[in-house]
Amino acid sequence: MPECIFCKIIRREMPGKIVYEDETVIAIEDIHPQAPVHLLVLPKAHIETLGAMGSEDEGLIGKLFSVAARLARERGVESRGYRTVINNGTGAGQSVFHLHLHVLGGRVFHWPPG
Ligand code: 5GP
Ligand code: ZN
Repeated sequence: MPECIFCKIIRREMPGKIVYEDETVIAIEDIHPQAPVHLLVLPKAHIETLGAMGSEDEGLIGKLFSVAARLARERGVESRGYRTVINNGTGAGQSVFHLHLHVLGGRVFHWPPG
């Protein structure tokens, strides 16, 4: 997927502030942060949406959340609360079609989201 911006960041073909990386998952700072802490946790594999994941990806889905929790703890937002979000499809606000888990913290969040 040469045109995918997240794949390009993973391949170091585009700049990106990488805050975590292992064999299957990477986390970056969001370029337009919507909160004092706004990270994106993504699989290294180009998977477009949650619906494109199969049962073989269940471990990977768990890993995304496990990394998110760890980063939230490290950034000091765990005690006050933080939000994890996956936008799936344009109607839900997805703009980059490489699955990513938003991790937002450091301010108050309202419900329901807009
Ligand atoms: P979505 O709207 O798909 O749920 O979220 C995409 C996110 O990617 C947005 O929050 C947007 O700010 C972020 N984003 C878009 N382009 C780039 C980029 O080139 N680098 C980084 N680090 N984040 C990006
Ligand atoms: Zn991609």
